[in-house]
Amino acid sequence: MTSATPTDPDCLFCKIVAGEIPADVVHEGAATVAFRDINPQAPLHVLVVPRAHHENAAASAAADAEGFAALFAAAAEVARAEGHDDYRLVFNTGAGVGQTVFHTHLHVIAGRPMTWPPG
Ligand code: AMP
Ligand code: ZN
Repeated sequence: MTSATPTDPDCLFCKIVAGEIPADVVHEGAATVAFRDINPQAPLHVLVVPRAHHENAAASAAADAEGFAALFAAAAEVARAEGHDDYRLVFNTGAGVGQTVFHTHLHVIAGRPMTWPPG
């Protein structure tokens, strides 16, 4: 992270990235931080976030291509480290599909049977 990295002082995940709010961090990279979801939906439920604040995946892809790509490598590392070959990756984009925190986050979910299509 550089001094040019965008952050939002009112953003929960920016505060977790900065260490201002505690989280169960499982992985840290130059451009990403991964921590356990506070309300897990499966035995493994980790959120991987870019250090740079953008409101959703498309915005991160457009403005922070390197950080965005790093999310997927970090997700794979977390899943492997936790013993899961099979896992689901989800970006909720927009309140209408359940996005509640408007700092890009990749859900890494594993460890139970899953249905398709998702609800
Ligand atoms: P989304 O609904 O896709 O925006 O996902 C936001 C996720 O953040 C939810 O799964 C919440 O359970 C999770 N969450 C909210 N606050 C925290 C927190 N302080 N630490 C970890 N996870 C959180
Ligand atoms: Zn943020």
